[in-house]
Amino acid sequence: MTEGNADYGAMDSEDFRLMVRAWIQEHYPEDKRFIVRRMGMDEIGGWVRALGAKGWLAPSWPREWGGMGLPIRKQIIFMEELSRHGCARFPDQALNLVGPLLMTFGTPEQKARHLHRIARGEEIWCQGYSEPAAGSDLASLQCKAVRDGDSFIVNGEKTWTTLAFCADWIFTLVRTSNAGRKQEGISILLIDLNTPGVTVRPIDSFTGEREFAQVIFDNARVPSENLVGEADRGWDIAKSVLGHERVMVGAPIIPMMALRQLEDLMDRLGTFGDTGALDRYAALRLDLYDLTTMFEEYVRRIEEGESIGGDVSLLKIRATELYAAISEEILLQAGDMARVAEPIALPDNVAFPLEIYAAARVPTIYGGANEVQRNVIARSVLRLPS
Ligand SMILES: Cc1cc2nc3c(=O)[nH]c(=O)nc-3n(C[C@H](O)[C@H](O)[C@H](O)COP(=O)(O)OP(=O)(O)OC[C@H]3O[C@@H](n4cnc5c(N)ncnc54)[C@H](O)[C@@H]3O)c2cc1C
Repeated sequence: MTEGNADYGAMDSEDFRLMVRAWIQEHYPEDKRFIVRRMGMDEIGGWVRALGAKGWLAPSWPREWGGMGLPIRKQIIFMEELSRHGCARFPDQALNLVGPLLMTFGTPEQKARHLHRIARGEEIWCQGYSEPAAGSDLASLQCKAVRDGDSFIVNGEKTWTTLAFCADWIFTLVRTSNAGRKQEGISILLIDLNTPGVTVRPIDSFTGEREFAQVIFDNARVPSENLVGEADRGWDIAKSVLGHERVMVGAPIIPMMALRQLEDLMDRLGTFGDTGALDRYAALRLDLYDLTTMFEEYVRRIEEGESIGGDVSLLKIRATELYAAISEEILLQAGDMARVAEPIALPDNVAFPLEIYAAARVPTIYGGANEVQRNVIARSVLRLPS
């Protein structure tokens, strides 16, 4: 039993905020503050395990599965405190995607086997959807799983798999049939990355960071008990995971942290006294407020068991374009200082304008590129002809 099982829902909000703030200050490694690149478990694992041991790794999960069971307002407070302190994003696909997937569609055995381990930070997962010829057009995926007795034999390749080299498991979309439309015949398999026949090859990102991997399956034998839902009917489940992914990418925490850096930069430069800069800052801050309100609505839908809805694409676009806009303002304000690779010392943190600018490009691609999100809105919200 961890403290995560305590009932924080009933606690006074301000007391909750101060408790979270104090604990983060005491436990978060000082040299990892305000780092925008994705870090693997070798760098950030200590923090993940500390949160897990405290029972604070899964704020939105029900207490039954080792989460904090926080109501939405307290989830926002939790995010605000993480972003105030500059806590980096850690490998979180298990918390944001695998957890909701298994809670809704997993067998009792799959839930019992994985959920508590994930909530304690003892099991790290990566997401195996994209393939070299299946990104935006995901349903074209070709990684094949063929039944053989009580197993599937998996052959094929996944790519752009974030932080696969520090993960224990991968949840994959695989083709189990070629009959019918391409959306039919897709299944979801949970695969232990230590299975013989699975190879993980790291890929560097355009900023030179080791961030993704190619995951190759060569006759990997996977027990059929690792199938989630029915064989050949994984597409609708996969789409529901994509809905959760869009809520996760739409969370205000990353824009909050970037705005915090902009505020510190403006303090240092004295540009709060410049009307133009102040005007642009105020617009960004109001956009962040709108984004937070919008995010709360989608979390409410999840909490109340409603469908997330195709309009969640709006949240994903708003969040990622706001982050990009804040990063551009940081670059603009930093002026000549942004040309050097050295960080800019700020009163309470440091800023790397070019690194933030580069980091803010990628969320417009992952979780479904923003152009494709606009197509979804056109089709499913505005009902425009395709
Ligand atoms: C940082 C990062 C992390 C990622 N992590 C993962 C991961 O962990 N697991 C995983 O499975 N995948 C991951 N991805 C892959 C990501 O989901 C894909 O990159 C994304 O879906 C786009 O697919 P693609 O790269 O094949 O580009 P393409 O689909 O080839 O698209 C190329 C361009 O064409 C545009 N385009 C494509 N189709 C249309 C259309 N119909 N209308 C208008 N424009 C269109 C796109 O918007 C894009 O600008 C990650 C990607 C990034 C950048």
